[in-house]
Amino acid sequence: SSTQACLENDISGTDNKGFKGHDMLAPFTAGWQSTDVDPLIIEKSEGSHVYDMQGRRYLDTLAGLWCTALGGNEPRLVDAATKQLNTLPFYHSFWNRTTKPSLDLAKELLDMFTAKKMAKAFFTNSGSEANDTQVKLVWYYNNALGRPNKKKFIARAKAYHGSTLISASLTGLPALHQNFDLPAPFVLHTDCPHYWRYHLPGETEEEFSTRLAKNLEDLILKEGPETIAAFIAEPVMGAGGVIPPPATYFDKIQAVVKKYDILFIADEVICAFGRLGTMFGSDKYNIKPDLVSLAKALSSAYMPIGAVLVSPEVSDVIHSQSNKLGSFSHGFTYSGHPVACAVALEAIKIYKEQNMVERVNRISPKFQEGLKAFSDSPIIGEIRGIGLILATEFVNNKSPNDPFPPEWGVGAYFGAQCQKNGMLVRVAGDTIMMSPPFVVTPEELDELISIYGKALRETEKRVEELKSQ
Ligand code: PMP
Repeated sequence: SSTQACLENDISGTDNKGFKGHDMLAPFTAGWQSTDVDPLIIEKSEGSHVYDMQGRRYLDTLAGLWCTALGGNEPRLVDAATKQLNTLPFYHSFWNRTTKPSLDLAKELLDMFTAKKMAKAFFTNSGSEANDTQVKLVWYYNNALGRPNKKKFIARAKAYHGSTLISASLTGLPALHQNFDLPAPFVLHTDCPHYWRYHLPGETEEEFSTRLAKNLEDLILKEGPETIAAFIAEPVMGAGGVIPPPATYFDKIQAVVKKYDILFIADEVICAFGRLGTMFGSDKYNIKPDLVSLAKALSSAYMPIGAVLVSPEVSDVIHSQSNKLGSFSHGFTYSGHPVACAVALEAIKIYKEQNMVERVNRISPKFQEGLKAFSDSPIIGEIRGIGLILATEFVNNKSPNDPFPPEWGVGAYFGAQCQKNGMLVRVAGDTIMMSPPFVVTPEELDELISIYGKALRETEKRVEELKSQ
């Protein structure tokens, strides 16, 4: 069974005995995993590496969960947190009371985001809360405008927008819907823009984008444009398999969305702050969003924090209608937490001072080209990525339509080979994902490419064996 294949291939925590059947209901973990397999317990981090309880060192190629952009031991972030903890560990931002770090961070984010002028920032603790906030903001906006029927959202198949009720509904991955009675009925999903997997024979990238924009328009017309409130997209899809958009995709999609007075939400939770080689994903693809979601690299993950940026068009309505609407009754105890904001301000200062965008542009060709050189492998269908984000997809006969039998656990086997050799990757079925910290060094990239190559050769051998059985 595939469970068995995973068990055989999973060497998580083989050195961390004694924590099998632990007390945590673990996120994105199968029940059998936490009862039958010892967890990998990470104890310490340093640069792009993490260490487990036995002191084994791993290159952390996903930067935690696409988030520790400045790596594992940036003292300036620790100092920023300590200083704030010693001055004011907490005050909230309700009822027009607030703190200086949250005001400073809001101003900083509005200044930084130049793809389209933004007027306000709202703070959350996570990307999921940012996207839940987007939905409530958009509903509130349309209620203020007297358009109570304009409430539906369009997201995309394979999108990842979070795992709270609303953000999981926006997510386009079956695993986040099945068994949870989701998605909520106000969410519709349109095509995943993965050219390699979904293009028709002979169709160019541009033609593929045209077809997807037409499908989006058909969906809007079928539902009634007066019922569609917003469209949400990650500039590069992340957890759904690292899928950069095909040529002309966002130009064509934005034209459709605009035509029907539908708001565009850019979910920049993974793409922002330099990962794609631009400060924001919107800069890379000429996206002019009405609303933006941020998290992860915002604080380099040293503190949990997310944010929503709101365009003047949306915030003006909310502000001008406040006599009618009363207060904007949405927020979290920790919205604008001063310690998280202080850490985020320092992270942004570092990104700017160290010219992180330029650094990513300098170092990413080694990452992209070094790994794409393995594209000829008979078990690899596609290696795709941009900047410091990349995925490898294993398939039979180089065809997107010929997957390996799931019970072979090809992706899991590759992941286990990486781990044995001191490297952690993200395994999702037969897709392997990586997004190293922005501060990854050329030497660390040599290590990454070398371990990847070793694991690939082992996996090729394994597939040969399985085929001959
Ligand atoms: N949006 C995107 C694009 C993400 O990648 C994620 C997290 N992987 C989220 C939203 C949700 O963020 P969080 O896990 O902080 O709730």
